[in-house]
Amino acid sequence: MARYTGPDCRLCRRAGQKLFLKGERCFGQKCAVERRHSPPGQIAQRRRRVSDRGLQLREKQKAKAAYGVLERQFRGYFDRARKNPLATGQVLVQLLERRLDNVVFRLDFAESRDQARQLVRHGHVTVGGKKVDIPSYMVKPGDAIGWKPSSQDKEFCKALAAGIPRKAVPGWLSLEASTLTGRVVDLPTVEAVEGLVEPRMIIEFYSK
Ligand code: SF4
Repeated sequence: MARYTGPDCRLCRRAGQKLFLKGERCFGQKCAVERRHSPPGQIAQRRRRVSDRGLQLREKQKAKAAYGVLERQFRGYFDRARKNPLATGQVLVQLLERRLDNVVFRLDFAESRDQARQLVRHGHVTVGGKKVDIPSYMVKPGDAIGWKPSSQDKEFCKALAAGIPRKAVPGWLSLEASTLTGRVVDLPTVEAVEGLVEPRMIIEFYSK
């Protein structure tokens, strides 16, 4: 699956907010959003009024950057959400949040979604005791997220176990830090992405 390979910090500066794409660096003084408040590019240094359409586009780009999803897959999520009888914004959030790489990140098993994706791809993560190496795999309530037994003996896994929890786990997930096991206890709601993504603006963008 193709993915964005440019500088992560550029995506945050373009979005105008921290998207926490680089783990620990995002919390330090080296964060590009902290150091430079302007969007990337020389022309962008000038203040410009952004149209409603521009704001909606920016919101969509921000969501894609935050979850590491390219346009085709993101559009696919939106189309699935729109066809669902439930509220489109809510289903879109569920499709993004239920991705296995996002869940690994949310459970604090990785510092960033990028790192989480790599852990999944390399076959370290299990769902219901079975190895799943597809980052876009959709977890569902009741699923247990854990580690392949052979991965648990590796140094990175031991270091991980010693360090968590470093951040709060969202209410739709539960974490048993001693066994490095997470569980999906509910479906995520729109509140799960508060401050990160505004689904209403993404719906408006695709509806025109
Ligand atoms: Fe974004 Fe993290 Fe880079 Fe800051 S350090 S700009 S939050 S990716």
